[in-house]
Amino acid sequence: MSDCLFCKIAAGEIPSNKVYEDEVCYAFHDIAPQAPTHFLVIPKTHIGSVSEVTADNSGVVAHIFTVIARLSKELGLESYRVVSNIGEQAGQSVFHLHFHVLSGRDMTWPPG
Ligand code: AMP
Repeated sequence: MSDCLFCKIAAGEIPSNKVYEDEVCYAFHDIAPQAPTHFLVIPKTHIGSVSEVTADNSGVVAHIFTVIARLSKELGLESYRVVSNIGEQAGQSVFHLHFHVLSGRDMTWPPG
């Protein structure tokens, strides 16, 4: 998608602090970290949010979760939270599917 911030980051057109990359997904540190560890994992193809996941593109999501599990082990994260906000009321500000991975501090439930 031509005017999508995260499409541009995945394509390397806008700089980011890369954590991991493969053919399917891209992981990078959040610019405004909400925990000592806070990175985002995004698909390279444009999907607007979880609400646009279908049987046809769900393999991308499964792949992203295998990457999150592997990266978290490699980074030594013993406890972490994976969050995806869907829609403005839930806090979504970038309309390209992304999973926040947060770790390194106590977290509360329910989230605010
Ligand atoms: P959300 O608000 O759930 O849509 O998450 C979007 C996230 O993207 C926020 O945590 C922002 O801090 C983060 N963000 C926005 N622009 C950038 C950027 N250029 N590089 C890294 N993270 C960004």
